[in-house]
Amino acid sequence: MLHIRNYINGTFHDPQTHEWIENINPATGEIFALVARSGAGDVDAAVAAATDAFPQWSGLTSKQRSDILLRVSKKIAEHFDELARAETDDNGKPLWLSKAIDIPRAEANLAFFATEILHTETAAHVTDNHVFNYTVRSPLGVVGCISPWNLPLYLFTWKIAPALAAGNCVVAKPSELTPLTSFLFSQLCIDAGLPPGVLNIVHGLGAECGDAIVKHRDIKAISFTGGTVTGRTIAATAAPMFKKLSLELGGKNPTIVFDDVDIHHTARHVARAAYTNQGEICLCGSRIFVAQNIYKEFRTALIEEIRRFVVGDPLDEPTKTGAIVSKAQMDKILSYIDLAIQEGGTVLTGGKRVMLKGRCSNGFFVEPTLIEGLDSKCRVNQEEIFGPVATLMPFSDDEEVIEAANSTSYGLAASVWCRDISRAHKVAHRLESGIVWVNCWLVRDLRTPFGGMKNSGVGREGGVEALRFFTEAKNVCVQF
Ligand code: NDP
Repeated sequence: MLHIRNYINGTFHDPQTHEWIENINPATGEIFALVARSGAGDVDAAVAAATDAFPQWSGLTSKQRSDILLRVSKKIAEHFDELARAETDDNGKPLWLSKAIDIPRAEANLAFFATEILHTETAAHVTDNHVFNYTVRSPLGVVGCISPWNLPLYLFTWKIAPALAAGNCVVAKPSELTPLTSFLFSQLCIDAGLPPGVLNIVHGLGAECGDAIVKHRDIKAISFTGGTVTGRTIAATAAPMFKKLSLELGGKNPTIVFDDVDIHHTARHVARAAYTNQGEICLCGSRIFVAQNIYKEFRTALIEEIRRFVVGDPLDEPTKTGAIVSKAQMDKILSYIDLAIQEGGTVLTGGKRVMLKGRCSNGFFVEPTLIEGLDSKCRVNQEEIFGPVATLMPFSDDEEVIEAANSTSYGLAASVWCRDISRAHKVAHRLESGIVWVNCWLVRDLRTPFGGMKNSGVGREGGVEALRFFTEAKNVCVQF
């Protein structure tokens, strides 16, 4: 049995607790690895290694750090197939999706921040003829990065890459549900020549190992992506310690379809926005609002598109919907479908667990599900489900749909489908959302600010925003 061990000070370690957690392939229900169940002692060792490594790592030139991180990025490319298969076995997503999105993006995250640090500039402010100020940015020291299970290596590298590039040393914890690719990544860091202690990866449960990272006095900042409830717990611990905090949390994202669109083309993209990665992307559009006068025609087209999201073995090429990450998550999704019926909804397609034959007969699969007839204030339309479930609602005018779209406590992402570009701009500006896509979805430029409003988070990631988060600004004021 594979043992997923901690990566501390450049080598692999069993957890000091001597305890292990079973790691399950959600497509087969089989235990295929054991994950270190680390505690505060392991986190202490990781922080000590990171603290020792910091003076040398932060003292390298940007070019030297960039060269090392580019080598790590290249290692991801060299191990592309192995990493893609590992991500699929651990998470349940289709193998083609791991190859199309997760692993290329992990490689790109490293390369992007490795080269971004070569092109930064700093501010200078002239106060009057004899005084001028300039801004210096320094790394924080040891920082903590905690990431979720839905895009495991993608989101793990999205955090550690800017942290390391900016000159910090990192203690990171991936989700205990999907630790495999970050474990394989540890070996790639060793092979690429990343100095010991610069990156440390401790595995374990959020409430134990994650909590120990958040509480550690020598960790200066926490970058967290995960659920809103967990984010609140982390903020309650870290804020009184005056740690810097970046929180990327949940979403309940609206998709708004106006009546001037090409119905079939838009239905295809709206389905993709709702059901890609089994709906387990924080950016998925799970509340679909459609203009009343095209509602019926659009509904027919959308159902047709949803039926193309074939549920099957993640290793099979035609599969578009793989396994849900865990039994607990599958049960949560199914309970929300039951709730939708209790709240007066009608299931238009899907609605059930799927029992496959053969290798996947014990896997956790749910049909892509579309529900109509629900009020936008009901629980199903207010709470994040994080699965292949979306609701469909008609609207009559712009004011009505803007109000409904903004009616949740979340504010992460939205998409607007409209040929009238002036209308699209107006609506985009009024949506309470950190990201608005117009006539597209999930188009990502790594330079743009990424993050949510309201209960979807605090702060922004991406581009210079990430480098700002992982550095401290100092103003030097000179009179001459
Ligand atoms: P969780 O909040 O359950 O967990 C996220 C990470 O935090 C995991 O590594 C988890 O560990 C850890 N964790 C859990 N409890 C604590 C704690 N008390 N202290 C420190 N760390 C802790 O989220 P999920 O993994 O279930 O991910 C799904 C959620 O992530 C959804 O709400 C989704 O919307 C959100 N998300 C947000 C994104 C964004 O950019 N805004 C992007 C992707 C997802 P463990 O799992 O090992 O318990």
